[in-house]
Amino acid sequence: MSDPNNTWTLLKVLNWTKGYLAEKGVENARLEAEWLLCEALGLDRVGLYLNFDKPLTEGELATYRAMVARRAKREPLQYILGTQEFGGLEFVVTPDVLIPRHDTEVLVAEALRRAPADASILDIGLGSGCIAVALATALPGAAVCGVEQSPPALAVARGNAERNGVSLEFVEGSLFEPLHGRRFDLIVSNPPYIPTGDLATLEPEVRDYEPPGALDGGADGLAFYRLIIPGAPGYLNPGGWLLVEIGIGQGGAVGELFARSGFTGVFTATDPGGIERVVGGQLPSGQP
Ligand code: GLN
Repeated sequence: MSDPNNTWTLLKVLNWTKGYLAEKGVENARLEAEWLLCEALGLDRVGLYLNFDKPLTEGELATYRAMVARRAKREPLQYILGTQEFGGLEFVVTPDVLIPRHDTEVLVAEALRRAPADASILDIGLGSGCIAVALATALPGAAVCGVEQSPPALAVARGNAERNGVSLEFVEGSLFEPLHGRRFDLIVSNPPYIPTGDLATLEPEVRDYEPPGALDGGADGLAFYRLIIPGAPGYLNPGGWLLVEIGIGQGGAVGELFARSGFTGVFTATDPGGIERVVGGQLPSGQP
């Protein structure tokens, strides 16, 4: 029998990885080590705990080591595992799409408070498709359309709709450009909103791995709001709503764009961290 002290059991591997990833600046090193090991071994968390004393085979160790090496370079855990949960649903993520953030669930919740059951909905900048798929799942009677200019992102969104059993309309193109003549009851968007100069200050996971095209909102971060908000009335039905996600401190400027573009009932909603995360407004209903 081999000397147990020289055997890489699951527990020993986890403890070692925890220290290694923490040293590389990963915050929840122990938990992330567990997720990576689960993925490498095809186990769930309970399975992992039940097998703490089991030694890893050479093959398992090699698979796991490669994953740990990627994480140590600060590649996001979700790109290594390949999925992220959002709104209770599972989404495939690749480096072609922004990883869904739980803060964005506020946008979905606020949209659901306002959308009629049979709403026609447009999501501008689908990315992974998390917003559109979550809305389509919650509103089976709605018609959800998503526009996305990146073909690889569009492919990821298509896969995520299929994976979650909803059918969306997918349109390739930039903002409203491929949608001339169309009208919707609700338009939602989580556009890029990080000021260009701030990109370099972001965590390495975001800065070095997530698609810059999904983050960069121009010099002051507001470039996409200046296109989406004044443009939206031309694509909304009377009484329709526009809701956008915003970055920290952008509520005032974005709210002003809504007011200047003819929206009424302009509101903001905060995320669980107390940060203003969503701005929305409604078009007047028109003449009776
Ligand atoms: N919330 C993302 C971040 O802080 C940015 C998303 C966006 O630009 N729409 O990394």
